[in-house]
Amino acid sequence: MKKRKILVTSALPYANGSIHLGHLVEYIQTDIWVRFQRMRGHDIYYVCADDTHGTPIMLRAEKEGITPEALIARVHKEHLADFTGFNIHFDNYYTTHSEETRYFSENIYQKLKAAWLISVRSIEQLYDPSKNIFLPDRYVKGECPKCGAKDQYSDSCEVCGAAYAPTELKDPYSSVSGAKPIKKSSEHYFFNLSDNRCIDFLRKWTREADHLQPEAANKMREWLGEAGENKLSDWDISRDAPYFGFEIPGAPGKYFYVWLDAPIGYMGSFKNYCEKNNIDFDEFWRKDSATELYHFIGKDILYFHALFWPAMLEHSNYRTPTKIFAHGFLTVNGEKMSKSRGTFITAESYLQQQLNPEWLRYYFAAKLNGTLEDIDLNLEDFIARVNSDLVGKFVNIASRCAGFINKRFQGKLVDGEQYQLMRTVIDERFSSWRPGKIEQAFEDRDFSAAIRQVMKFADAANEMIHELAPWEIAKDPQRSCELQRHCSLGIQLFYLLSCYLKPILPKTVEQIETFLNCEPLMWPVLPDGKPVSDLLLPAGHCINPYQHLMTRIDTKQIEALVVANQQGLPPAADAFSRVRHGQKQQHAVASIADTVSIDDFSKIDLRIARIVNAEQVTGADKLLKLTLDIGAEQRTVFAGIKSAYEPEQLKGRFTVMVANLAPRKMKFGVSEGMVLAAGGGGKELFILSPDDGAQPGMRVT
Ligand SMILES: [Zn+2]
Repeated sequence: MKKRKILVTSALPYANGSIHLGHLVEYIQTDIWVRFQRMRGHDIYYVCADDTHGTPIMLRAEKEGITPEALIARVHKEHLADFTGFNIHFDNYYTTHSEETRYFSENIYQKLKAAWLISVRSIEQLYDPSKNIFLPDRYVKGECPKCGAKDQYSDSCEVCGAAYAPTELKDPYSSVSGAKPIKKSSEHYFFNLSDNRCIDFLRKWTREADHLQPEAANKMREWLGEAGENKLSDWDISRDAPYFGFEIPGAPGKYFYVWLDAPIGYMGSFKNYCEKNNIDFDEFWRKDSATELYHFIGKDILYFHALFWPAMLEHSNYRTPTKIFAHGFLTVNGEKMSKSRGTFITAESYLQQQLNPEWLRYYFAAKLNGTLEDIDLNLEDFIARVNSDLVGKFVNIASRCAGFINKRFQGKLVDGEQYQLMRTVIDERFSSWRPGKIEQAFEDRDFSAAIRQVMKFADAANEMIHELAPWEIAKDPQRSCELQRHCSLGIQLFYLLSCYLKPILPKTVEQIETFLNCEPLMWPVLPDGKPVSDLLLPAGHCINPYQHLMTRIDTKQIEALVVANQQGLPPAADAFSRVRHGQKQQHAVASIADTVSIDDFSKIDLRIARIVNAEQVTGADKLLKLTLDIGAEQRTVFAGIKSAYEPEQLKGRFTVMVANLAPRKMKFGVSEGMVLAAGGGGKELFILSPDDGAQPGMRVT
């Protein structure tokens, strides 16, 4: 097989928030693919970086009272720790705030300019006169011109769904300072995407050579329109000072828009790696390069990667990507990840709860099929699948067979005639089995198909061991020869399974390599017509004592994970990232009640309570039965929060209760108090949580 030279990237995470499980889908997907190619002996490099520029970074650093450089250095460390924790290995994890990225941004810009593909036009934009900055659309809010709902974003209303221009918004205000924005014009730099040269190139590029998945290619056809049509707009690539980024050469006070230097950050990161490792950068990036370049991205950033990016590269005399691999979004339990439900799970919290990262790698792999479809992390299915496949079917094979080999045969697998006999048995059973299917599925990023094949093999292996029943044979000292042969067979099949699972479970297989006493496992290639037993460990191979490889997931661990993500919002999920991600606004605000004196208020005894237990109430459609610990005693409270919470989400949480409310006899029992919740009912109910450190029984004053 010809040795391939491959460069792979994942999208650059923005240096303004924590990595969560939704992000990890992409990095795990990429990492598995890279590890697979590396096992096959190809030269493959995986680079990434933090995306560090733009207004949100600038404003957040200002708010924290630090420099943007200090902010991005801290976030870089956090991101890299999260990725490393999930066994995602980058050859280089860099930053876009680098001299290399600056160099290529300027270089590409100057080449586009020389090709007459850059133009300058004056545009009118909203400006914050108290902050003295131009406002990105997301930072302008106001009243919907259609329905009058307050606090709507400048492009669309989340209440009535209307779309409009920022200038139509009524009573607009800057969400940075609260000031009323003014209109101000300024010169902006554009990349002329509507130029015929770009359109002709993109029409061709997006349709040929499988650069894009079929669904993505269709999307492009929609955006590009039919021949003769010109549906593309020029791309605004500049922002005015103050801005955290690279100043445009020859244009004082103008900066490259963050989305211009983000993909260029792929080149910057790789250049940095090449310099340190003596690799020829140009071999990978020159126009006629014979190497392969793949970008793994989420489907939401296709526009940048399938239109702007190849057009920029093409017209600045660099190579274009070989393929762009887009994936869908992650849902949890069939719904969008949600902070109130505790399903907006950060990478850090998963690791802090001591959950095995390889469980998640396996589950994501089992769901990924190489298309743009969304994938769902169903927490119950996650537990069931990992326990059944990885512990029940895979690890179990080794733990059943290794003990006999170690204790009775000094770790030695069969050799000579016995080895031949074992081979025959394996080849008979697996005569119709085609491992090439697994390889092809990995190559196509259809990891779910690969896992189906691997688990089929695991089922057959378990069946064989069950039939051979070495634990029965072990009782008869006369049959030790047979015992060694059957257990060797189990270990050999386990070895093969480990090879196929190594891209997905790198850390576990590292332990397995120690146990099996062998060199790092490579991809097992079986030429057509050869028997499966050609792939096995050699006759008489010796293994080391078996060490425990993987535990089962306990439901309690997952409950604790959800609770951990419900209680404290992760530090990075602050106001700005909410602005960036457009969190839904509450629109109906009830009027304030009549004034009471402090004496009136102090009559109400509010206490911190720990929810010891929460359960459904048979026959009640709104109530949950809560058992609350308030230090000196436990209370039973019936709370009307069933529409918004599952009992499991509440167990272990801290909340606030009214402790001196007169007990109330209800149909289902006596309610001894009340828990506090905000919201109008239905799904919109939010129970209160104290900050960390509050203890059950503390009075709230
Ligand atoms: Zn509206």
